[in-house]
Amino acid sequence: MLTIANALILKGSNLNPSKENIVIDNGKIIEIAPEIKEGKIIDCTNCIVSPSFLNAHVHIGDSIIKDEGDGLSLDEMVKPPNGIKHKALENTSDEEIINDMEKSMWDMLHSGTSHFIDYREGGIKGVKLLKEASFNIPIKPIILGRDNSFYGEDPDLNLVKRNLRKLLKFADGVGLSGFGEISTEVAELITKKCKKLGKISSIHTAESNEAQVNSINKTGYTEIKRGIDASFDQLVHCTNARVEDISEISKSNTNIVLCPRANATLNVGIPPIDKILSQNIIPFIGSDNIMLNSPNIIRDLEFILKLSRAYYKKYFNPKVFFEMATVNPYKFKDLNSNLYGCLNKSIIKKGLDAQLMISNQLSKNPYLSIINRCDTQNILHIMNKNKHIDYINKQIYNI
Ligand SMILES: [Zn+2]
Repeated sequence: MLTIANALILKGSNLNPSKENIVIDNGKIIEIAPEIKEGKIIDCTNCIVSPSFLNAHVHIGDSIIKDEGDGLSLDEMVKPPNGIKHKALENTSDEEIINDMEKSMWDMLHSGTSHFIDYREGGIKGVKLLKEASFNIPIKPIILGRDNSFYGEDPDLNLVKRNLRKLLKFADGVGLSGFGEISTEVAELITKKCKKLGKISSIHTAESNEAQVNSINKTGYTEIKRGIDASFDQLVHCTNARVEDISEISKSNTNIVLCPRANATLNVGIPPIDKILSQNIIPFIGSDNIMLNSPNIIRDLEFILKLSRAYYKKYFNPKVFFEMATVNPYKFKDLNSNLYGCLNKSIIKKGLDAQLMISNQLSKNPYLSIINRCDTQNILHIMNKNKHIDYINKQIYNI
């Protein structure tokens, strides 16, 4: 048992700051109250205790080629099977891929991320490599796999079904590179199977304007419309969403993930952040390919906050962005969604798992203290998966 004492806590799904103590036993928050103290005491005077982050979209496999290909087009960088990342993945040993994935998971933990949704390439083997790499690290990957048989205009549907069934025995769901590489028929087959098995279906949509235009020319519909119609749980990017796409998203239960920092790196545009927020859509945020960006979600939060204010020339409350990486999964509209099922514990509330981070309070506004001021050296403790990582004493304890 331990007590986090004297801290400013960003509590519950509203993240309202309050000065209280948190008692943790067996990895769970058993009490939040002023004055109460049990077991080992961690004095957190002048610190903020906040939910740890969900990085909602990562490709951890391309940790092996950080910053390579800068200046190439989106397709030249990441489109399967010939993008430079896929060539690099083919030509790197499993051991090197695992080593680099481990380093990236520690980078995430050092910057406050306790769980991430990964688009894992390489079929079942790719999923197993990430499971192996994460086994002894107190971070939770939610692994969305894919299989080469899914691609193409006229795939062998029996083979797709067989490989999908096998893949979903190991993966938490399927993460697809986009409608440019798969047919609508395969997309629907995948979402249906995922729903049946309680798994997550996710796809990149409208990352580039070109992808949107190609989709409209080919089918008469935008990628986002097709993603919603095919019942995907999650659409990643929506950077080049049309006005009608935003209202389709807001009417649906489909979750969206914004990755503006990665979009900027690839010069594909700025997501329609203002329209998304004004339609009461509850987005998540991700840092996307590790080849493009460090997986430090605080950098994404600072980027989206300042980009929004600069681009729209108006005020945005930092709390709105902080929520994208913390409590938004808890506010998910479709409570039967498989996505909700695997993410809903990252709030500080009695009875829930301790998934939290403790950082120095660097300014009076706790959201800006983290988004605008916090560097990795200001993150002092992380608690997740029944572990306490104490960065001050460089120790990991069971809790
Ligand atoms: Zn991506």
